Amino acid sequence: MQHTPDSLWLAILEELDETARNDIYLRQVIPHSLTDESFIIAVPSDYTQDEIEDRFFSDIKKVLDDQTSNGCKLKISVDTSLVKIPETAQTVHSSEEDIPEIANLNPNYVFENFVVGQSNRICDATARAVSDDLGGEYNPLFIYGGVGLGKTHLLHAIGNRVQNIAPKRRILYVTSEIFMNEYIESIMDRTSAQGFRTKYRTTDLLLIDDIQFLARKEGTQEEFFNTFNVLYHNSNQIVMTSDRSPSMLNNLEERLISRFEWGMVAEIDKPNYELRLAILRQKWQDQGFDNIADEIHEVLSYIAEIVTANIRELEGILIRLTAQASISGERLDIDFARRVLNDTTPISRGSRQKAITAAAIQRIVTDHFQLDNDDLTSAKRTKAIVFPRQIAMYLCRELTQLSLLDIAEAFHRQNHTTIIHACTQVEKLLKDKETKKLIQHFIDELA
Ligand code: ADP
Ligand code: MG
Repeated sequence: MQHTPDSLWLAILEELDETARNDIYLRQVIPHSLTDESFIIAVPSDYTQDEIEDRFFSDIKKVLDDQTSNGCKLKISVDTSLVKIPETAQTVHSSEEDIPEIANLNPNYVFENFVVGQSNRICDATARAVSDDLGGEYNPLFIYGGVGLGKTHLLHAIGNRVQNIAPKRRILYVTSEIFMNEYIESIMDRTSAQGFRTKYRTTDLLLIDDIQFLARKEGTQEEFFNTFNVLYHNSNQIVMTSDRSPSMLNNLEERLISRFEWGMVAEIDKPNYELRLAILRQKWQDQGFDNIADEIHEVLSYIAEIVTANIRELEGILIRLTAQASISGERLDIDFARRVLNDTTPISRGSRQKAITAAAIQRIVTDHFQLDNDDLTSAKRTKAIVFPRQIAMYLCRELTQLSLLDIAEAFHRQNHTTIIHACTQVEKLLKDKETKKLIQHFIDELA
């Protein structure tokens, strides 16, 4: 059968398996041309080209060989004009003067220095896909995960990449706190209200960090809701980050939460040992050292072992060790690292089972549910407080050496029956996957 480029590509997709057919990179392919010698497919970026070459080249080639008779070559070419730009964006910014002013991007946070492992692979891939297809399939993109795991880095990386490949796009990075402050200013000063709206509602790419901050800020939520709707309906891209999944965002309006789930929700998880080590190796090289001598490798492995939860801490420890070694003129090796880190850092203490206190548990639960400081110890019986309180009591029972009476006292309770009741309740709820995950999350945070 005589193929056109399109029919050949369809035939190839048909032969690939389901996951491949749905792959975000393969979906960006445009069949370009077909001759006896070669079949050329075009993709929007080098990165997509690499991904396809690494993961699909041989499969595609196999089908190509079946479909064409005489050794037709497969070529993947990059055509940056394939990067999709929302039509609205093109019409809004027709004149040269009309080009972006305020992006607030940190040029150091780019995809090129974002080290990818199991825990962040999906976030990384989706973030890249979003930069190549603003307002497309992954709109909005919602990235969530714990502190110091790279959410902010990815937001800026999207912005920086879009700025590179489509310099005319309007990009805006803000934290949700800044969004709120500017919104408040705009209410107080009517003349700036229009400016505020124009700024947020005409951007092609809104990168908004730490959205969990909007909890309980009803007015700002309302404004964000309206901003969201305008952007979304104009196919402008929204990317948000949060320290928890949309369903865990308490005190945020349901209609907002459901919108967050319209596009893609991706979790960024804690890095495993290999990723921690890979990140440290990269940070070491970023400091201008090309080689990693054996003794440095040992130091890096040691840090990767003791700092497990947070990439910011990984970096911090490395910087600290390097600085101290250079100030004291000592050699940076494993003995030095052990000596400096021993006992003096919260991390090394943490890894040796620091005692967990009721106060620490209350603090972490209060923070998570965004309650007031004394809600847990109060007599209030609303559902929004009872559940967190029971969880906190349960954690005290499981994780501390405190007696039931001690725990009762820590929660200003007269006797310990409440504590027992709370523990039974929580144990029942542990059958539910979300609750189990939440408890595990607290345990990890406290460890
Ligand atoms: P979050 O916003 O999730 O709290 P950040 O994006 O601020 O975390 O990341 C904390 C630090 O760790 C930043 O300096 C960032 O560059 C670095 N970092 C996080 N993840 C990676 C990664 N995968 N590769 C390289 N550096 C990373
Ligand atoms: Mg952040």
